[in-house]
Amino acid sequence: MEVIEHDILLVGGGGAGLRAAIAACEASPDVSVGMVSKLYPMRSHTVSAEGGAAGVARDDDSLELHIQDTLKGSDYLADQDVVEVFVDAAHKELTQLEHWGCPWSREPDGRVSVRFFGGMSVKRTWYATDKTGFHMLHTLFQTSLKYDRIVRYDEYFATRLLVRDGVCRGVAAFDLRTGEVKCFLGRAVILATGGGGRIFPFTTNAAVKTGDGMSLAYRAGVALKDMEFVQYHPTGLPGTGILITEASRGEGGHLKNKHGERFLVEYDYGVGDRAELGPRDMISRAEILEFEAGRGLRGPYGDYVHLDLRHLGEQKIDQRIPFVRELARNYVGIDPVWEPIPVRPVVHYMMGGVDTDVDGATPGVEGLYAAGEVACVSINGANRLGSNSLPECLVFGKRSGEAAVAYASQGASEGPREALVGQAQAEEARLDALRHKVGGEKIAQIRRELNSAMEQGCGVFREEDSMAACVDSVRQLKGRYADIGIGDSSRIFNTEIVQALELGNLLDVAEAVAVGALARRESRGAHTRRDYPERNDADYLRHSLVRFAADGPRLDYRDVTITRWQPQERKY
Ligand SMILES: Cc1cc2nc3c(=O)[nH]c(=O)nc-3n(C[C@H](O)[C@H](O)[C@H](O)COP(=O)(O)OP(=O)(O)OC[C@H]3O[C@@H](n4cnc5c(N)ncnc54)[C@H](O)[C@@H]3O)c2cc1C
Repeated sequence: MEVIEHDILLVGGGGAGLRAAIAACEASPDVSVGMVSKLYPMRSHTVSAEGGAAGVARDDDSLELHIQDTLKGSDYLADQDVVEVFVDAAHKELTQLEHWGCPWSREPDGRVSVRFFGGMSVKRTWYATDKTGFHMLHTLFQTSLKYDRIVRYDEYFATRLLVRDGVCRGVAAFDLRTGEVKCFLGRAVILATGGGGRIFPFTTNAAVKTGDGMSLAYRAGVALKDMEFVQYHPTGLPGTGILITEASRGEGGHLKNKHGERFLVEYDYGVGDRAELGPRDMISRAEILEFEAGRGLRGPYGDYVHLDLRHLGEQKIDQRIPFVRELARNYVGIDPVWEPIPVRPVVHYMMGGVDTDVDGATPGVEGLYAAGEVACVSINGANRLGSNSLPECLVFGKRSGEAAVAYASQGASEGPREALVGQAQAEEARLDALRHKVGGEKIAQIRRELNSAMEQGCGVFREEDSMAACVDSVRQLKGRYADIGIGDSSRIFNTEIVQALELGNLLDVAEAVAVGALARRESRGAHTRRDYPERNDADYLRHSLVRFAADGPRLDYRDVTITRWQPQERKY
């Protein structure tokens, strides 16, 4: 078996992974970084981010205000010490990207433009028209090319962390082109594998967002934190789930029911012209309530509402949100200059993820770090504010890259080489067996049933019975997964094997979400229970932690860090 060694191993080449790789190289002149990614980096989901990235930029804004907005948005479940670190660094990171060549949109006087985003009390979201993720990722990718010490393994799928005596020293991954499994060894491993929105049927997430890194860390002994909090975005296209960016509301778009009324004005948050600028959890709930009251519009994919941009005019639409026009024309045949766009709530983001500290280190497994959407460092709590995720990737990608280098250079041992290679060989044998596996169950069928169980049990509104049924269904599906059959035993670009492995990861992630949701008997942020409609700080101002065990997940809790801001009723 080929053994490849680097000082730092990164799994993932999206925003968080590339930022970590650059930080590692800047932190030490001779460190070598191996970057394993199942996609070519520029195809990572970060590329599809549209609306922008938040960072304090103007005189009417302050670090204090960005912190307060983030904490309130999180329904007070975010760790306050971490949010302080995040807000202080976010605007510096965006300026750093500017210096690396990111083409931020600008005002006529030359200043970087900022726009409104939901739950942000002032304009604070930097953007590059509405292709922000593309430009940020491109900037990071080009910057990473300066370092020949970053060695890329594009289109390698990581299937197992190599952990011995509680210390992580590598990863087993196979080359998609050849099917060959290789053993990657390093003194520290950073997971930057993104989210897992694909546990749900309607999502803005790319097909590759299957929670792989969450499952890898979970099976290696790290807890998954706050998994029950899944963000629905209120403006996805029915059918495909393609995102129509929140920037469309930030720039002044209106949401309307079938009577043409701006229904959000009637709900208890966001008043007057700012009605559409409420946070995502609240607007998604309002849409569902409109549907239930019979005020939605009906289409082939169920109920929807209208996103009306007509009053903005063609010039503003083309200047500020051209991609929205392009998407609406191409995917629903509607030109938003003349007609409103049909939209509905779609799964967008996972607030939860791999438990880490403020430097990305995972408690319990030494030498393992995580950053970006795969991680839960805890700035998003129960509901993320739009445009906080891209800067999160930058801030905590950088911190974990630096922390991993510091750890690796403080005499972290190479680890028991033979034992680690042995683990990779065992993984090779497992994948070989999988390629020839005979069984009665089909991957697509299990995935479909998983999607529908999650939508029915853990959607925008939740209840004890439907969540309990969801937990049961996921458990049964896990049992059936053991009996899947694989029809394609070839090695070269075997997409069936990839799908089988991804489905295994989806099942782990879905189970953690459902178990966490069932046990949280309160409503907070994106977790809304009809049977427990109130927030209950006395019992649940705590992070949930789901741990892997052979006979089913274990759940416990940890207190939220409160520093200066006492939890208050969340009103807009
Ligand atoms: C459509 C859309 C629009 C968005 N818009 C915004 C926005 O405007 N502002 C904002 O702040 N946030 C936005 N978000 C959220 C934000 O873009 C993401 O949370 C963020 O980009 C995630 O970055 P990441 O680096 O953590 O992961 P990703 O960019 O998803 O990258 C994951 C990487 O991990 C690799 N990987 C995964 N599994 C494996 C494996 N098993 N083996 C090897 N490699 C693996 C992949 O190849 C990839 O390189 C948006 C999200 C979506 C879906």
